Amino acid sequence: MEAAAELRNLHPPSSSSTSTEVIHVFWHEGMLKHYTGNGVFDSGMDPGFLDVLEKHPENSDRIRNMVSILKRGPISPMISWHTGRPALIPELLSFHTQEYINELVEADRKGGKPICAGTFLNPGSWDSALLAAGTTLSAMKYIIDGHGNLSYALVRPPGHHAQPNQADGYCFLNNAGLAVHLALSSGYKKVAVIDIDVHYGNGTAEGFYGSDKVLTISLHMNHGSWGPSHPQNGTVDELGKEKGFGYNLNVPLPNGTGDKGYDYAMRNLVAPAIKKFEPDMMVLVVGQDSSAFDPNGRQCLTMDGYRNIGQTARGLANKHTGGRLLIVQEGGYHVTYSAYCLHALLEGVLKVPVSLLADPIAYYPEDETFSVKVVESIKGYHLNCVPFLREA
Ligand SMILES: [Zn+2]
Repeated sequence: MEAAAELRNLHPPSSSSTSTEVIHVFWHEGMLKHYTGNGVFDSGMDPGFLDVLEKHPENSDRIRNMVSILKRGPISPMISWHTGRPALIPELLSFHTQEYINELVEADRKGGKPICAGTFLNPGSWDSALLAAGTTLSAMKYIIDGHGNLSYALVRPPGHHAQPNQADGYCFLNNAGLAVHLALSSGYKKVAVIDIDVHYGNGTAEGFYGSDKVLTISLHMNHGSWGPSHPQNGTVDELGKEKGFGYNLNVPLPNGTGDKGYDYAMRNLVAPAIKKFEPDMMVLVVGQDSSAFDPNGRQCLTMDGYRNIGQTARGLANKHTGGRLLIVQEGGYHVTYSAYCLHALLEGVLKVPVSLLADPIAYYPEDETFSVKVVESIKGYHLNCVPFLREA
């Protein structure tokens, strides 16, 4: 009984756990209008022999819970809400090609269609995608204009698989990539992107593959290529090209890596790389699909793991970018636990000293021995191949 009571316990903020800081959350309810359908998981298909079909994993419920936990959860006093806006077509061309945007506009005009596996542009989807992109740009602009240091773009459809000329993995427009371009065109010299969604941030990597101004680091499940829309493998040897060589660091982690393994990777691999790169802007690309209970991932993070990642990212921003940190929402498909993990991550970013919300699902056993070995081996490979990591 006692343990169950503790699990349900919402610790009220006490004087020792309150923070005077706020996170500026950018959101627009129009993004709920992107309807992805029902079927067998993300296929959109009804096989005819199931009585109950499920919602596509990237559905509006997951985001509704993320909004409501920030509005009514214990972190709510530390949230400042801002209304997002749609992106303008010319704004999309910093990252995407005109031809690709024309294709999406045309698909929307004709009533929508499946764009690639699991990725459906239905009536309302394009408007939502424009809102996700514009809302992320607004969140970045808020930091650029000096109104605040911590912004979170709570957006869907997600973006980090969207490549300059290719939709992929539920993503149409690369929200984070567009924000990075906005920072660069506003005078920032170097932007670091840390992507902890369980999947490889292939779209963002592709968009900056030839750039030494943007360091993209992706921690992901070792899932490899998944077809024509996602030709990248996410392996350690995909390091960038030309002057961007060495500025894409892939960290494919073994299945089941968990809280300790992620913490080890953040502190021992990500942090030293950020230190060497010396960014003046940082973007944390977040997916709660790295959680222990996500239908789309196998990485076993719990709320503690997300809290640690938020803390480490914030520490890095404080040290290197004057505290400037944009957080961008990507995947995360367990309708309840994704919201809890988001709450924990933002607590970490705010450096809340005592957890405000107990984990309703963990405990999850973890042995980090293997993942630590893998992280060390990846780090060794990067040090061998990447000149800027060896600079004094
Ligand atoms: Zn994902």
